[in-house]
Amino acid sequence: MLRSVILAASRSSQVERLVATAPFTRDVVRRFVAGAATDDALRATRELVADGQAVTLDYLGEDTTTPEQANATRDEYLTLLSGLAAAGLTPAAEVSVKLSALGQMFDEQLAYDNARAICAAADAAGTTVTLDMEDHTTTDSTLDILAKLRKDHPGTGAVLQAYLRRTESDCRELASAGSRVRLCKGAYKEPESVAYQSAREVDKSYVRCMNVLMSGDGYPMLATHDPRLIAIGEDRARWFDRDPGRFEFQMLYGIRPEEQQRLVGEGYTVRTYVPYGDQWYGYLMRRLAERPANVAFFGRAVLSKK
Ligand SMILES: Cc1cc2nc3c(=O)[nH]c(=O)nc-3n(C[C@H](O)[C@H](O)[C@H](O)COP(=O)(O)OP(=O)(O)OC[C@H]3O[C@@H](n4cnc5c(N)ncnc54)[C@H](O)[C@@H]3O)c2cc1C
Repeated sequence: MLRSVILAASRSSQVERLVATAPFTRDVVRRFVAGAATDDALRATRELVADGQAVTLDYLGEDTTTPEQANATRDEYLTLLSGLAAAGLTPAAEVSVKLSALGQMFDEQLAYDNARAICAAADAAGTTVTLDMEDHTTTDSTLDILAKLRKDHPGTGAVLQAYLRRTESDCRELASAGSRVRLCKGAYKEPESVAYQSAREVDKSYVRCMNVLMSGDGYPMLATHDPRLIAIGEDRARWFDRDPGRFEFQMLYGIRPEEQQRLVGEGYTVRTYVPYGDQWYGYLMRRLAERPANVAFFGRAVLSKK
């Protein structure tokens, strides 16, 4: 219920204005977002890499409505990639891209062209791109664009969401040699016709999908903070004889950092997803929707500023 309310608020420009201008918001945002500028992203990356982690960087922005915005997002990724290469942070750091930020909602060809430019820059910088997955109305278009990008840039990563009923079958399609696939639960509000609704069903689907990916020929990227799923991931790594170079765990910036360090200490590859930029509203609301305790954290920040 709370999740639905917060996800509905994530699409409301009125609530966005309220939250963005509230004095307490800065502290909350700082926990989940590395900062507004490219230099903030580079600083956070340097710190994580020094701690033995890998990184994927997300320049925040989605639902872009004009070609100018889409091209500006592409240009920021190009600047970021050259900054990462110049700082010696590739290949440890790669980038995550939302096609909606590159124009997918109004011009698929533009989104593809922009994504291709980012993939070419990532190749030149010695690293890779992963295409984030958004709501289910974009899944086919995103997988089509992924297939086209992989012709020239085979290292381009996909994201599959365990809450979608179709995902186990998508995992089978994508579990091929060299195919990088991030498996997550899924962060959007989806109808019952396409997505499992209960946490138990989503978790069971995650395990089925994980089995397909870990027993397949690709490179699985297990994106979850869920202690049970992480333990199952460790178990499957042993069972399918996948050493740390043949799969990775992924978590979000600011969420369970001690667990990230524990896994690094165990010798696993752990990649932190680091968002930056000033378009943090939709991202922050999805994080709040995932966990009621984060709403309490938000509330405490409000009270402490009163
Ligand atoms: C690297 C990465 C990339 C992602 N990319 C995408 C994407 O492209 N598309 C998409 O739809 N979704 C994406 N997600 C989000 C994902 O779909 C889930 O919404 C999110 O990861 C929460 O699910 P969970 O597996 O962590 O399990 P949950 O069941 O949400 O949480 C399990 C436990 O993890 C901890 N935890 C989880 N979330 C939080 C939080 N916000 N704050 C504090 N503790 C928390 C708590 O201990 C909780 O009990 C991504 C997630 C990660 C880690």
